[in-house]
Amino acid sequence: MSIAKNIAAAMEKSSWIRKMFEEGVRLKAEHGAEKVFDFSLGNPNLPAPDEVETALRDLVVSGEAADHGYMPNIGYPHVRAAVAESVSRDQGVSATADEIVMTCGAAGALNVCLKTLLDPEDEVICPAPFFVEYGAYAANHGGRLVAVPAKSDFMLDIPAMEAAVTPRTKVVLINSPNNPTGQIYPAEDLKALGEMMARKGRELGRTLYLISDEPYRKIVYDGVKVPSVFAAHADAIVVTSYSKDLSIPGERLGYIAVNPAATHKAELLGGMALANRTLGFVNAPALMQRVAAKAQGAAVDISQYARKRQLLCDGLAGAGYDFVTPPGAFYLFPRSPLADDAAFVQELQKDLILAVPGSGFGGPGHFRLAFCVDDATIKNAIPGFARAMERCR
Ligand code: PLP
Repeated sequence: MSIAKNIAAAMEKSSWIRKMFEEGVRLKAEHGAEKVFDFSLGNPNLPAPDEVETALRDLVVSGEAADHGYMPNIGYPHVRAAVAESVSRDQGVSATADEIVMTCGAAGALNVCLKTLLDPEDEVICPAPFFVEYGAYAANHGGRLVAVPAKSDFMLDIPAMEAAVTPRTKVVLINSPNNPTGQIYPAEDLKALGEMMARKGRELGRTLYLISDEPYRKIVYDGVKVPSVFAAHADAIVVTSYSKDLSIPGERLGYIAVNPAATHKAELLGGMALANRTLGFVNAPALMQRVAAKAQGAAVDISQYARKRQLLCDGLAGAGYDFVTPPGAFYLFPRSPLADDAAFVQELQKDLILAVPGSGFGGPGHFRLAFCVDDATIKNAIPGFARAMERCR
């Protein structure tokens, strides 16, 4: 074998998503792209808000965009100050630029955090199902993801998470609104989680960090608000990006916000600045940082995702599917009518519908639909969902 064994093994493990992608390419070539209903990717389909285009234009016209030099590894001070203002408002704290690290997306932010925190064999507890890359991110830095099944409504099972804590636990990683379930953890659950972590940390004599991955914080429905983890645990870190709420995933911009009340804050932030550099990111993209500073508070039109969610939920409920209506994000995670979720995903393909088996997210017996697609894709796919259900009942 020419490549590293662990990468080869990881490629094998992530083969479901790859398989779906390849299957999509094949089906689209065979039947025409418009005939294939592709719900497999979390790639936002709404345009970026006007504020992004306006900021880009203004930055070029004013000449501000002409500075292409290196900068502090944690990002431009004026950008971090603007982000800190938003964090203070969203998270109910008084954050300053010193607690913000600009990163290459939420993915970059997670890798910076885990590189900063993990020693070899350290464990990262994570409720399952979870974003498929988390296992690889922990392994990138010598750690190990410990998946703890969530409850049947995808809420945190805190006693089970407590039972999973060992002397090697360093991080608890949560994601709310969640990919793939859309679930949002209420303030009481976060408080109970924080109390459990503080108690276990005291028992073990080590700081347990709560990392909250929040790229979907602004994509919420029915007036639901995402509570702050900072209120729940002192040693909490928020990682996020503009990929989903500004619809700019290709621009690779996100940030880390460290709780102003964190116990080893200076050390932690110093480690993150170093990790951002030595992971090879060096710093987050310069132009997009400047755009983000001007576009604080902007977001895509969430009412459009709300409409898509309604179309899909109504259609699937009518076809007899069982699911938790997602309060946030743009995913639906219905129960698979067949115990073998991969077999059911293949059934859907007979009706030219592309979905991802829940097993790929540590949530077997389910499948994931990303509804960041055209309304027509949703409407025209419903008869196919109904036929697949009929065949599998
Ligand atoms: N975390 C979650 C839960 C995600 O769903 C994604 C992307 O889909 C990421 C992190 C990575 O985000 P980014 O593209 O901003 O790095």
